Amino acid sequence: MERVWIGIGSNMLDPKKQVDQSIWCLSALPMTKLIAFSSYYRSRPLGKKNQPDFLNAIVILDTDLSPQVLLNYLQYIEKKQGRIRLRDDCVWQSRTLDLDILLFGKHIICIPELIIPHHGIFNREFVIYPLIELNDRLVFPNGKIITDIVRTVPRNGLDLWKS
Ligand code: AMP
Repeated sequence: MERVWIGIGSNMLDPKKQVDQSIWCLSALPMTKLIAFSSYYRSRPLGKKNQPDFLNAIVILDTDLSPQVLLNYLQYIEKKQGRIRLRDDCVWQSRTLDLDILLFGKHIICIPELIIPHHGIFNREFVIYPLIELNDRLVFPNGKIITDIVRTVPRNGLDLWKS
């Protein structure tokens, strides 16, 4: 059984409903137990600025699924909730639901379809602040400590999601 951290983002079609529903789906995955989830945060969009703010949250799961099988389930949930994948050069655009594996136990994985820890973990405010809310003593697989990382990441307007 591994402890896994999943990042969730949505800025379309009622983000709160999308995130609520995705957490419910994650809690129903086979061989998996929902441990905790963070507050819901409002973040400014990366990339294209003419799009709505994002709702971001993080979920902790304990799972016996492999990283690849978990990724398949996340992509299934994204698809079920209406995410349409466009061309690869259209990153950082509006999306109904984005699910990322941020951490998978202490594993470091670098294969074409899966990079863990997720590349955004050390520089994105909407990842690092929900992470520290859930565990202010988190140590990353490379030995870095979350309290050291958070000092290097400005909040960039990150706030709690209020509506
Ligand atoms: P995105 O559009 O940002 O959700 O990226 C989706 C692609 O990222 C998928 O094709 C995944 O195979 C790949 N990917 C690489 N690392 C990860 C990860 N840690 N979690 C989720 N997707 C990942």
